[in-house]
Amino acid sequence: MATGRVGPADSYGGYRAQLVATLRDKGIRDLSVLHAVAQVPRHLFVPESVRHRAYEDTALPIGGGQTISQPFIQALYLEVIGLTGKEKVLEIGTGSGYQTALLSLLAGSVFSVERIPALARSARAALDAAGARNVSIFVGDGTLGWRPYAPYDAILVSAASPSVPQPLVDQLGPGGRMVIPIGDKQIQTLTVVRREGDRITTGTAGDARFVPLLGQFGFRET
Ligand code: SAH
Repeated sequence: MATGRVGPADSYGGYRAQLVATLRDKGIRDLSVLHAVAQVPRHLFVPESVRHRAYEDTALPIGGGQTISQPFIQALYLEVIGLTGKEKVLEIGTGSGYQTALLSLLAGSVFSVERIPALARSARAALDAAGARNVSIFVGDGTLGWRPYAPYDAILVSAASPSVPQPLVDQLGPGGRMVIPIGDKQIQTLTVVRREGDRITTGTAGDARFVPLLGQFGFRET
């Protein structure tokens, strides 16, 4: 996203400020994350039919049976992953592209994989409209990661998986961290995987409800 811009000149600034206040009330402390939420025009990432709800702290339908995640969960992901602005980040499940836009402000470069071509296209259009410049989107099975640009400093998986896909662990660089919801199709535990030297450690960061990660190392497509 263009750096040095002080947020978009639109009529939604008040709604974004309200959302930032809500996220702060719910416990998000990382100022860079709150600042990114204040900057990104979320209404560009949702369909016309739900645009009036774009700044509610809730998941919304984006077509193809998928949802744009709840802003609180997205902010929690970003707080847990702790970016400094230089990282190379892999995102699995582009969806609307909203979290991709937040990442574009918080990281050096963003590689995002989406399995539904129509969503990848609309996310690209919204990211272009929002001015994100450091984002590459690929259509494919994100459970395989995206090997050409590996290793990654951070990996964010935005869909629920029965276990951590091994290709994603393999593509995590030294000091790298990954957030992924692990569980069944109804409820998951946000799982944090870290590579420290030769060791892989695993922690948790609360419960979540995501749509399934469908692919070779996720849930099988039926
Ligand atoms: N962070 C996104 C979440 C979208 S929902 C947002 O807020 O908009 C999860 C997305 O993951 C859906 O778009 C779905 O199509 C995608 N997805 C599911 N399985 C996938 C896979 N194996 N590879 C890539 N994307 C996948």
